[in-house]
Amino acid sequence: MIRLKQVSKSYSKEVAVQSVSLNIHKGEVFGIIGASGAGKSTLLRMMNLLEVPDEGKIEVTNQELTSLNSKGLRQVRQSIGMIFQHFHLVANKTVYENVFVSLELARFPKNKRKARVEECLHFVGLERFKGKYPAQLSGGQKQRVAIARALANNPQVLLCDEPTSSLDPNTTAEILTVLKNINQTLGVTIVIVSHEMDVIKSVCNRVAVMADGKIYETVEQQPVGIPQ
Ligand code: ADP
Ligand code: ADP
Repeated sequence: MIRLKQVSKSYSKEVAVQSVSLNIHKGEVFGIIGASGAGKSTLLRMMNLLEVPDEGKIEVTNQELTSLNSKGLRQVRQSIGMIFQHFHLVANKTVYENVFVSLELARFPKNKRKARVEECLHFVGLERFKGKYPAQLSGGQKQRVAIARALANNPQVLLCDEPTSSLDPNTTAEILTVLKNINQTLGVTIVIVSHEMDVIKSVCNRVAVMADGKIYETVEQQPVGIPQ
């Protein structure tokens, strides 16, 4: 599903990711753990070309991202959803509009947009909040909106950058439950970057341990489950 071959990325003098090779399989919940500054976020952001690698190849759904033109890249990105630690919602748009915008950007069929937004908000349990603005929501609710937006275009992959790092333990458990449901009921392949071992242990089938821009080992594990 995602294949990295000897991918490297530096920022001026700083080496962020150094010759990383990695295969993430369809249907996995794949974790990337490591301390702050290890290169996790840079690695994840290269999986949809939010960061462009200096070297190496990145294939997602069998397409080599760096060789695509802008139209091709826009199309592949529709199959790659992403969520962030700080949600990245549009502050002056409602919950409904935040999800709607991603359908507009993707040129989703016009006559199906409204139903699709409602379906995604239903999936994350936020139908009743569709007229609210981000500032009126709790952190967990904001992340649910971001998840609904990421799901709108039926992605095959969901990239999660520290998805629970701004949330308290109860809300963390709720969001992890939503992510697990997305994996199990929709079959979406999920990649989670986190510095929190508990988060990675609870839901991931496989974990890469990252430090100094490199992956030191990749281990299979039985997810221990989400503490309730
Ligand atoms: P992590 O997600 O594990 O905290 P990052 O990928 O954010 O790691 O960062 C890896 C390294 O690259 C760090 O040393 C960081 O300071 C540096 N870095 C990340 N983003 C940038 C940027 N936009 N400009 C300059 N340096 C950056
Ligand atoms: P930053 O530069 O602060 O990291 P971006 O502007 O790159 O954030 O936005 C991060 C992500 O949020 C984008 O990749 C996109 O998927 C999503 N996003 C941002 N603005 C919108 C929007 N108006 N509608 C839908 N998605 C958006």
